[in-house]
Amino acid sequence: MQPRVLCADIGGSFIDFAVLDNTNSVINRNKIPTPTHNADSFLQALIELTALYPKLPLHIAMAGTQEPKTGRLLAANIPCMDGTLFSALLGRHLQRPIRVANDADCFAMGEAHFGAARGHDNVFGIILGTGVGGGLIWKGQVILGGGGVSGEWGHGPIIPHFPDTPKATPCFQCGCGQWGCLDTFGSARGLERLHAWHGFPPRDSRAIVQAWENGDSNAADTINTYIDYTSAALALVVNTTGSTIVPVGGGLSNAQRLIHELDLSVQRRILRQQNTPLIIPGILGQDAALLGASALS
Ligand SMILES: [Zn+2]
Repeated sequence: MQPRVLCADIGGSFIDFAVLDNTNSVINRNKIPTPTHNADSFLQALIELTALYPKLPLHIAMAGTQEPKTGRLLAANIPCMDGTLFSALLGRHLQRPIRVANDADCFAMGEAHFGAARGHDNVFGIILGTGVGGGLIWKGQVILGGGGVSGEWGHGPIIPHFPDTPKATPCFQCGCGQWGCLDTFGSARGLERLHAWHGFPPRDSRAIVQAWENGDSNAADTINTYIDYTSAALALVVNTTGSTIVPVGGGLSNAQRLIHELDLSVQRRILRQQNTPLIIPGILGQDAALLGASALS
């Protein structure tokens, strides 16, 4: 089989690298720690990973956002590349075409082209993991939008903030500086925050989900709050985008019953009726972003 494209999923901890052939099968694979603090080391690592395939394009799923107008990268977890003209910089050093997209966008691309959302024109892929992310795909292509942040449904205050009675609502300060963003309660860490907000002893997200599945009433209170607020935000997004399928990635996507309950709640709250599941776990696992990057045009 003929090698077609090189793909890298670059996160704050690892670079996951793969060579895909013309049937989109992975024919070579590598994983190395990400050099996050030294630009020369970062570039050298990519030069070495790609050296065997001098002419092939490199498509990257990046833990960051490239501003479409300027090409400037925002990547807080990879400080040595933060603020650079990333694609242009890589193009000069690697001497090949470079495509870069946000990793949540690439997750959505992967599930749309190769996974759970195949056959759908309008796909909103979401990440419920350490944080909350999302990507909007229309007819197989990422919609970037202003600033390159379309699909980022995790930010924007949606829980009312009452500074004088802070326990009145599950309103937490977000890393973006605002209060009450979905990112603060819709993620795995958020589930743990909601559990503490209810006044229950600290537990990690997996233990909370497990306890809920075993009929624990405290965990049920936490999960009900989680589903109530998260499905409200998601129903709004589904109404706005008209997406017909919402594949879920990230750690919470492994909680099949939780995703099913989220689906039922969203379906009760959207304007249209759909006879098939709308919110579904992705099926590509860790490879979704990597495969999605291969389909960037
Ligand atoms: Zn935020």
